[in-house]
Amino acid sequence: MSYTQWFEEHANKHKVIVSKLQKQNYTKEQIIEYFDFDSMVENEPEFCPLYVDNKKCHDMESLNCYLCACPNFRFDDAGIKKVGENTQYSFCGIESKDGSQGVYGDKIHQDCSKCGVPHHTAYVEKNFDLDWKVAMKKCKL
Ligand code: SF4
Repeated sequence: MSYTQWFEEHANKHKVIVSKLQKQNYTKEQIIEYFDFDSMVENEPEFCPLYVDNKKCHDMESLNCYLCACPNFRFDDAGIKKVGENTQYSFCGIESKDGSQGVYGDKIHQDCSKCGVPHHTAYVEKNFDLDWKVAMKKCKL
């Protein structure tokens, strides 16, 4: 699946849930709370493929799913630049010390597996937007 395909599909799933909560007059705080991992596993099992195994993407006690993937992620399915013989397709916009660049054959992708930045509630509160695509507006290059 391309980044763009995932991005569009995830945006749609996110929108359906937020619209449902808005109709029930959820406040911003209640929406963020609803997107807590434990709540989402129970209430929105289709939102993430990891939910079926009750598995977190990162080893964090409190993990919020509202800003998955991450507003700092940058990608271009057509390739961003050549790095030697390889092509880079994504990177971290804030150069998080917990992120890295992974090389897969001749492709370079951002590896966020050790970074929990977007999953902290305080980060979600600060970067919140009801429209996930607005929160992620810098991601797609
Ligand atoms: S390394 Fe962290 S801050 Fe950077 S894009 Fe990945 S999850 Fe976001």
